[in-house]
Amino acid sequence: MTNSTPRIHIVGGGPAGLTCARVLQGHGIDVTVHDADDAVDSRDAGGTLDLHADSGQIALEDAGLLDAFTAQARPEGQAKTRRDHHGTVLAEFTPAPGDEAAPEIDRGRLRRLLADHLRPGTVHWGHRLQRVTPLGHGRHRLDFADGTSAQADLLIGADGAWSKVRPLVSDAVPQHLGVCFLDARYDEVDSRHPGIAALVGDGHLFANDGDGRAVILQRNGDGVVRGYLAFRAAPHWHVGAGVDLADRESIRSHLTREFGHWSEDLRTLIVRNDGDYVPRSFQALPAPLTWEHVPGVTLIGDAAHLMAPFGGHGANLAMLDGAELAHAVSRALTGPDPVAGLDAAAGLDAELARYEADMFARTADLAVSSNQALRDFFATTDTPHLPPDHEQEHRDYLARARAYRQDRARRTATEPTGA
Ligand SMILES: Cc1cc2nc3c(=O)[nH]c(=O)nc-3n(C[C@H](O)[C@H](O)[C@H](O)COP(=O)(O)OP(=O)(O)OC[C@H]3O[C@@H](n4cnc5c(N)ncnc54)[C@H](O)[C@@H]3O)c2cc1C
Repeated sequence: MTNSTPRIHIVGGGPAGLTCARVLQGHGIDVTVHDADDAVDSRDAGGTLDLHADSGQIALEDAGLLDAFTAQARPEGQAKTRRDHHGTVLAEFTPAPGDEAAPEIDRGRLRRLLADHLRPGTVHWGHRLQRVTPLGHGRHRLDFADGTSAQADLLIGADGAWSKVRPLVSDAVPQHLGVCFLDARYDEVDSRHPGIAALVGDGHLFANDGDGRAVILQRNGDGVVRGYLAFRAAPHWHVGAGVDLADRESIRSHLTREFGHWSEDLRTLIVRNDGDYVPRSFQALPAPLTWEHVPGVTLIGDAAHLMAPFGGHGANLAMLDGAELAHAVSRALTGPDPVAGLDAAAGLDAELARYEADMFARTADLAVSSNQALRDFFATTDTPHLPPDHEQEHRDYLARARAYRQDRARRTATEPTGA
């Protein structure tokens, strides 16, 4: 890196990468984002996300987008019902009026919200990173599948679970957590699937048989319910089970057998979806995962700490990583004492290393507990599987949000920049 403006390239335009780019631009720093998708909405972005007051919402505030989020969010979507496989209600949570601890938003809407607030041309869609080559002195050459290339003084890996940037800093790869699922969707649910609409209500239904099977349904915006039909299984379960994943009826026969002891209304819904099932599985990186800082490169989001979604922390932490990294880069480049006696590259690397240390501390316990929560949820047990106390959980989000802001303000006031 020279003492001129560094060339900053983010690989990945998901919640992490787009938040980072937006906060960097808010600091007046140029950045380019590369994403493999052809456009912001060229693929189904997936289901709903709850953005927590102590993480995702702080990142949105840093991005100047909290009000825009609130205008699109669904606070009523925080509602949750827990049932056993007979359909018996075990616990219910209805958010109080004004509860903004973790409102829901569809991923597609969030992605568009973030992308629409970047300077035109920031995201290079259809740019799939194929290879990264270290060039020395913290610089990297990026080669994309379309034959183009770029050079980065700072390379930010925001490219999710199967990151192509991660191998520059760690050998870790995602591990299968022993649970597979079929992604299902139900359209125009209030008119076409009123039984499902009633079961899901405004928010989420979690049903569990205490023997490794679960149905999780979530109300999304626009009258859609999305579901995860989940069961303990090895990655290529369909081969041994004789299921043709390209044939909806073949999957339905399997699910009818697998969930045969479930109540009729729950059994029925798993074979009444619109469109195809999408087979997926839960994966996580070894946790906690840390590495020694490598000059000129760092990771944010799932690329750094892919974890089970039991706790709903992944996108929240991804966005907070993005915002915190952007602040760290800004401290190194534009702070009152940008390099604090170091040359520009060393000053930036010092801030990157500090970002990484904070990120490891922020995410380690949540990754471990989320992965354990998945194992517990799919364990065989005679004890009814009860949810956490959501009222307390919401109070905790708000208390931690206050503490986070106070801690950040204190650190900004007392710590030297660029060191
Ligand atoms: C079933 C399920 C439910 C979940 N529910 C929740 C929840 O309720 N709350 C929550 O907070 N989190 C949840 N998560 C986790 C959440 O989805 C992730 O943590 C979050 O999307 C991570 O954001 P990211 O930007 O790091 O990665 P991603 O969202 O994976 O984005 C990565 C981006 O990189 C791009 N990319 C990948 N490879 C390349 C390449 N080679 N070149 C260029 N671009 C590339 C991709 O196109 C993508 O746009 C859930 C996950 C799953 C699987």
